[in-house]
Amino acid sequence: MVKKIYEKPIINKINAGVPDKSGMATHIKEIPEIEGIPVEEITKEYGSPVFVVSEKIIRETYQDAYRAFSTRYPKVQFAWSYKTNYLDAVCNVYKDLGSWAEVVSMFEYEKAQRNGIKTQNIIFNGPYKSKETLKTAVENGSYIHIDNFDELYNLAEVLQTVDKKAKVAIRINMETGIYPQWDRFGFNYENGEAWTAITLIMKQEKMQLVGLHTHIGTYILLPSAYGVAASKMSNLMLRIKAKYNHVISYIDLGGGFASKNTLKGAYLPGKDTCPTFDQYAEAITNAINNSGIEINDLPTLFLETGRALIDDAGYLIGKVKANKQLANGRKSLVLDVGINNLFTSFWYNHDVYPAHVKSHSLEDITLYGPLCMNIDCLRAAIHFPPMDIDDHIVIVRVGAYNLSQWMQFISYRPNVVMIDTKGKMHLIRRAENLETFTSQEVSIK
Ligand SMILES: *Cc1c(COP(=O)(O)O)cnc(C)c1O
Repeated sequence: MVKKIYEKPIINKINAGVPDKSGMATHIKEIPEIEGIPVEEITKEYGSPVFVVSEKIIRETYQDAYRAFSTRYPKVQFAWSYKTNYLDAVCNVYKDLGSWAEVVSMFEYEKAQRNGIKTQNIIFNGPYKSKETLKTAVENGSYIHIDNFDELYNLAEVLQTVDKKAKVAIRINMETGIYPQWDRFGFNYENGEAWTAITLIMKQEKMQLVGLHTHIGTYILLPSAYGVAASKMSNLMLRIKAKYNHVISYIDLGGGFASKNTLKGAYLPGKDTCPTFDQYAEAITNAINNSGIEINDLPTLFLETGRALIDDAGYLIGKVKANKQLANGRKSLVLDVGINNLFTSFWYNHDVYPAHVKSHSLEDITLYGPLCMNIDCLRAAIHFPPMDIDDHIVIVRVGAYNLSQWMQFISYRPNVVMIDTKGKMHLIRRAENLETFTSQEVSIK
């Protein structure tokens, strides 16, 4: 027998992604207009690139989420996660829908107050709140979610100087089947730390333990993880009732529901893997309803949903600025939209569409931004039709974390426009200019 020649295996990177259940895409959708307004009209008026937020989609998504929970559970309260998108116009739509505010810094707290959120309707989260911050929150009657023992002692110290009781909850981290476990925030459930914090708070005259909080992570695709979290929180609530005859008034399950964006490296598109609000609601409310909590003691269910509520409502319109062939023969486009505008492109393969498809002969290309930085690549590989200079592209599902995490790097941040429910455009944040920056700098000449 002749010995076969050994051939070493080679791994080739598939540039174009993997086929979905219908094979490789041969057609691409076009997005010629947003809420009935042609994209050309939007850039003509507000320049390119430009962010567009749809008020209609914000409202519809919120109503869908609220319906999913309120039809299964009697007491539901959403609190808008400010860091997900803190433009006033956006926050005010949530306020109008009945949302409270969830903040993680004094900046966000001040913004929520300025937007007219009652301080008693503000939830203050985060791993660090200064003593001055804690004092302000106590004086204003806001809910303080304590993150760690040092913060608990700081709050006790602050309370010696304030003639008021603090309304507090503790943030709890726990095993829910989600890895990595976010154990850097809050007190651990399994090792008894959370219970230690509870017993300490129950002994504090001036602290009222009103709630229990957790935020198990973000982009959680597993509704059952929330079921585990909700039953562990319910157990703590029952233990508090048994030991202290004290009834906790709310359980806050934080945010973290997935949006329909596709994570880099995911096998299937996000729109196919993202659970519905009904699935999350089912897992959470079943866990609370099935716990031993008596009907009269049922806590209000707080939700701090961020990305799942706003992602779909945001669009980023840009233009093609160059067609370029790379040295290896690959085609690429240079756009006027960069990763400075689109922070979430670090972890998502954002869906990018042409405003108009001139030909359906799609090619596998790379989309670059305008920055003089090698990392400025919006899509390493995407099937795209031929495009000419100044043709429009539309990036969808950019409502979460871009308008708060966008970077002022190399160029000015662009205009942000909201289209109201009547289809009218409003400028909600002006593009930056040289003055924006020079006004902050101090001359030493
Ligand atoms: C960021 C954050 C949220 C919102 O998270 P999403 O994943 O966007 O839903 C809610 N609660 C807390 C404490 C957060 O830090």
